[in-house]
Amino acid sequence: MTQETGGFAAFNLNPNILAAVIATGYEEPSAIQHQSIPIIMAGHDMIGQAQTGTGKTAAFALPILHRIDPAKREPQALILAPTRELALQVATAFETYAKQMPGVTVVAVYGGAPMGPQLKAIRNGAQIVVATPGRLCDHLRRDEKVLSTVNHLVLDEADEMLKLGFMDDLEVIFKALPPTRQTVLFSATLPQSIRAIAERHLRDPQHVKIQTKTQTVTAIEQAHLLVHADQKTSAVLSLLEVEDFDALIMFVRTKQATLDLASALEAKGYKAAALNGDIAQNQRERVIDSLKDGRLDIVVATDVAARGLDVPRITHVFNVDMPYDPESYVHRIGRTGRAGREGRALLLVTPRERRMLQVIERVTGQKVAEVRLPDAQAVLDARIKKLTNSLTPLVADAESTHGDLLDRLIADIGCSPRALAAALLRKATNGQALTLAAIERDRPLVPNSAPRERSSERSGDRPDRGDRERRAPVPLAEGRARCRTALGARDGIAAKNLLGAILNEGGLAREAIGRIQVRDSFSLVELPEVGLESLLAKLKDTRVAGKQLKLRRYRED
Ligand code: AMP
Repeated sequence: MTQETGGFAAFNLNPNILAAVIATGYEEPSAIQHQSIPIIMAGHDMIGQAQTGTGKTAAFALPILHRIDPAKREPQALILAPTRELALQVATAFETYAKQMPGVTVVAVYGGAPMGPQLKAIRNGAQIVVATPGRLCDHLRRDEKVLSTVNHLVLDEADEMLKLGFMDDLEVIFKALPPTRQTVLFSATLPQSIRAIAERHLRDPQHVKIQTKTQTVTAIEQAHLLVHADQKTSAVLSLLEVEDFDALIMFVRTKQATLDLASALEAKGYKAAALNGDIAQNQRERVIDSLKDGRLDIVVATDVAARGLDVPRITHVFNVDMPYDPESYVHRIGRTGRAGREGRALLLVTPRERRMLQVIERVTGQKVAEVRLPDAQAVLDARIKKLTNSLTPLVADAESTHGDLLDRLIADIGCSPRALAAALLRKATNGQALTLAAIERDRPLVPNSAPRERSSERSGDRPDRGDRERRAPVPLAEGRARCRTALGARDGIAAKNLLGAILNEGGLAREAIGRIQVRDSFSLVELPEVGLESLLAKLKDTRVAGKQLKLRRYRED
């Protein structure tokens, strides 16, 4: 065990859980984990104020796993998540941490998939149930006893659940659980509606909040780039092409990520190395010395391993994985801009982490501007510039050293000087794309940056603007179809109810759902044109506010 895992060892978690955490590559607990794990392990109710990116999933998953009894084959912990996407992520996290706990099984329960296998998995003794509220209520309607053995309840992203209209479903679920259970609530914000839930359903909860002091950051130009998690490496490679850097440090979360990214960079010809808690002290010092004297240009590090690293050559910090809290962000980017020099810090943000970005902006009191990936033309220009720079010093005397050889090759091959020069270039550039079309093909896909969170993000439970403002017919965005349901305001429907039901039952990403307009006797929803028929088929039996949704394509003419 390395010294750094001491952080997790101090919790006295079941050794099988600790072993899995170490195998996952976590070096030390994040701030929310430090505070929450002992409280949840001790069986207290808790309210945790934290958003995605802080490590909140492990903050509840590890102590909950510690508290369940693997020998009992019945549901013991229920985690409620607002969307199917989050439910799957949480279930996967539980599976990872329970990898070395024989007999522990996890089931994810969400809309848009058949109910039978889900119910069967619960009845077969899955100890951990991760569910979206709507689908869980459907199960309760079939079997009201299904949750009767649950001793631990976690509400994950409670504010999001309310925004998606799951309040009534939550009440049904609370009723179906034993009143003696432990309840843990995580939420990024604590509007009045969440406090009211806590008051009614939690017992003497302890509060955990990551204190965020205002931090100042000077002389560092900050930017962020929206990117899908699986496209991070290609995004980093594309950014490096156009960034003019001297030395650069990249931060990631796990040891494995330091190794993977460093080898991807090396493969592209960068002088890069990994720095993580498994690397022995003397080797670590060698890496830092190499970064100082230019034998290395890029170091990919975890927070722990980069502690105390002070290299004045560093001009850029890339936060490839989001830091857990604003303090650690400020700490990371402080690696550049040393000794009064200017530095540049870039943060990669996945769609789910946008909120963390807002917290960072609030705490640092600075806007972190959005940048786009360089377009194909910029990449091409940068590549040609590098090629020009590498050839320019050679032309002065290459003719005297290689001119005769050139003449001989032209004669032997029987080609023009231009054809030969082109062949040499192809060899020298080693298959690198040097046309616009070829570069375009390799470009990573990035998420849409325009709509942040569609429903009123900060308000907790204000109705979606679509309810009140968007009365005029609005032109459809390309690739979208308008659909209609006969449910409207008079049926007690708000935009958030439609959003929640369609997201989960349809299995869509949030960005895929366009404008929602709720009228008195009907509602209109914009959905992706591609796959619309199968989406409508999936939603065939969906109910919202107890009534059939019956969504149909809507033709305006
Ligand atoms: P969450 O805030 O729960 O969505 O977690 C964000 C990411 O951080 C996930 O990819 C986790 O696997 C990762 N993570 C959580 N805790 C740690 C830790 N202590 N060390 C490294 N990575 C972590």
